[in-house]
Amino acid sequence: MAKARRKRETYVQVDCSPPACPFCQSTDREPYFDVVTLHQSGVWNGKEFTRIRRKRTRCKSCRRFYLVRFFEHPKPAEAPESSGPEQEAPKRARKR
Ligand SMILES: [Zn+2]
Repeated sequence: MAKARRKRETYVQVDCSPPACPFCQSTDREPYFDVVTLHQSGVWNGKEFTRIRRKRTRCKSCRRFYLVRFFEHPKPAEAPESSGPEQEAPKRARKR
């Protein structure tokens, strides 16, 4: 009845910490590729998330592929990330 489809790929679930290889625990990996954004919301590990980013990568140590899921939660709009031009130009008048 129910399709027992097993995914052969291994997921690593992280939110912010650098993901480690589920096989050898190495954090040495190749760049992410095949990034998929899943619009789901829920709570994971006590944190609310509104979307999941699924990224595929490959371990450099054991050469195995694995997937990493990032649980993301956009910051509320009231938090202004002001990275304005903080350029202080201390141009002082020359003294004579
Ligand atoms: Zn590995």
